[in-house]
Amino acid sequence: MSEEVSKHEFKAEVCKLLNILTNSLYTNREIFLRELISNASDALDKLRFRINRGDKPIADDLPLEIRITLDKDKKTLIIQDTGLGMTKEELSENLGTVAKSGTEAFLNEIAASHKEGEEKTDASNIIGRFGIGFYSVFMVADSVTVSSRAAFSDPETPAYAWTSDGLGTYTIEKVDDGPARGTKIIVHMKEDATEFLEKYRIDSIIKQHSAFVPFPVFVDNERANTQPALWREPKSSVTAEQYNSFYKAMTYDSKDPFDVQHIAVDVPVQFSALLFIPDETQDFFTTDNEMWGLDLYSRRVLIQKRNKDLLPEYLGFMKGVVDVEDLPLNISRETLQENVMLRKIQQVLVKQTLTKLEKLASDDKEKYEHFWRKHSRIFKLCFRDYTNQERTCALMRFSSSAMPDAEAGKEALTSFDEYMSRAQEGQKNIWYVAAPNREAARVNPHMEIFRKKGIEVLYLLDPVDEFVIENIRKYKDWEFKAAEAASTDDLKTFPDKEDANKPEVSPLSNEDADFFNRLLEHIKTVLGEKVKKVVISKRLDDSPAVLVTPEGGMTSSMEKMMKVMQHDESMPVRDLEINQDHPLTRSMIRIFKANPTDPILQQMIENLFDACLLMDGYVGDPQQVATRTRMLLENSAAWYTEVKKL
Ligand code: ADP
Ligand code: MG
Repeated sequence: MSEEVSKHEFKAEVCKLLNILTNSLYTNREIFLRELISNASDALDKLRFRINRGDKPIADDLPLEIRITLDKDKKTLIIQDTGLGMTKEELSENLGTVAKSGTEAFLNEIAASHKEGEEKTDASNIIGRFGIGFYSVFMVADSVTVSSRAAFSDPETPAYAWTSDGLGTYTIEKVDDGPARGTKIIVHMKEDATEFLEKYRIDSIIKQHSAFVPFPVFVDNERANTQPALWREPKSSVTAEQYNSFYKAMTYDSKDPFDVQHIAVDVPVQFSALLFIPDETQDFFTTDNEMWGLDLYSRRVLIQKRNKDLLPEYLGFMKGVVDVEDLPLNISRETLQENVMLRKIQQVLVKQTLTKLEKLASDDKEKYEHFWRKHSRIFKLCFRDYTNQERTCALMRFSSSAMPDAEAGKEALTSFDEYMSRAQEGQKNIWYVAAPNREAARVNPHMEIFRKKGIEVLYLLDPVDEFVIENIRKYKDWEFKAAEAASTDDLKTFPDKEDANKPEVSPLSNEDADFFNRLLEHIKTVLGEKVKKVVISKRLDDSPAVLVTPEGGMTSSMEKMMKVMQHDESMPVRDLEINQDHPLTRSMIRIFKANPTDPILQQMIENLFDACLLMDGYVGDPQQVATRTRMLLENSAAWYTEVKKL
């Protein structure tokens, strides 16, 4: 068939590379097909570019397409494109050398992984990061022939074929049965690679790695890629219906997405992206925290699924694709450079997404709250993003004491800014209380002083909230502070609100005030090490007593969380504050006056303390609490029948 066959040797680096590819990479070998298809697609792209410029190729009636043919008998996979093709010189130049700066890095990486004694190296790890391009075919082939006819050559110029077994040499010869235009690659499969002769296997590889290649790909005459790469289309030409079905096909979500952003950017990095906010969040913290991330493409070819450098974790509820124009599949990019590029993309995506959410929050409060209820769990991780902290904080929503009651999960919400606009003259703190639900927040004794002063308190109803707020610490110079950590000084400048319904309580006489002080000492003696101090309370209204975190201490819910994490079952030791005007306290003073060592008084003190612990979510010794309560009930039932003469 040929007059002259020339034999050539590969350059030294190519030999090293081939040696590794043929001998060390066994898993994920399927990506060889991605590389061949992307080369074919590139060649078609280049041809189309020249045609658009007005150049006329040979065989100009041929469609721009890629055809794959499988032959189990001959053990061959043939991939043919009608693209730019290669001249004899180009065959030798392009397929005989690696002139890529990343080769060195790649080889080092491989060498390192082998030193660690890994038997099999996962090709996708290495190739995914460096891209090996054409030579990856030698992972599956024991012989490869590339015959090609350059699209812009003299029609009389023959086609040439490059052939190699990947072992150190290649040949180039003239062929008579070469393609009419473009390149035809005959891959003769190794004995252990015959899986790649199965059509279903090839179809699924294409679906996974090359679904969005912009030219038709046929496998044994059947179209294998049917999804258009929507993100590369002009925005104006894509319908909502198309976005929705694309989203559903990509995520397997049965619902339409909540929102879509179609982004096309030229600087600082040229890329396009389609970002979806699902209607319902997949809570990746409880199921699989690897499931988030965006799919990274380079000119329609998948580089990496669920890349986690393109988005910060707090936007991890978003799904979508990013397609970078200038991210070659091949070796030439060093990982570091890539990362810089991805970071820049991330900055753009964060900015655009925050702008979008801000607009939604101001244009359509209800829709925004829907978003918040679905995705805030993840979004609240934004406390780690210092650069955008003010913007992300402005997007947060919480329930509060000023919001009307509503059923759980539908609580009315407020932003910090709204809270601040309702605040009292001179207020510089955003107050909060952590509780499992609104009712629990409302009955929290620490709320009483805030009610009395008419100061709004945020209700943090999600266990992560307090952690998030304590990390943010400040919003526009307003400091977040737990209601239970409020000192009397914090609140004394705010006047009490008049409450007409409140019964007048007469002040303690001097004598009783003295007994009250001694009662406080007695309570401390009874409770011993269980409390730090027992003091008079200035914050209580409806409750007789409350446990208070000493200044600078952790809030009770924080402390509880830490204790759970550290498997610490001890009880917290805090200050006990007693409300001197509460009817229970007044009765206790009377009992104390009559007999300071009355055993009933002792039981009351202990029960009162247990009740305070319960309010904070701790159960001391359930047996003791139950026994004491039963005894007190027994006594009071007896006294009740006596008093009422029943
Ligand atoms: P890359 O695609 O990153 O340049 P490859 O190793 O995949 O690296 O390919 C090397 C070169 O071989 C390509 O740059 C291209 O010039 C040439 N080439 C490979 N496949 C084809 C093809 N199907 N048609 C035309 N040229 C090709
Ligand atoms: Mg390539």
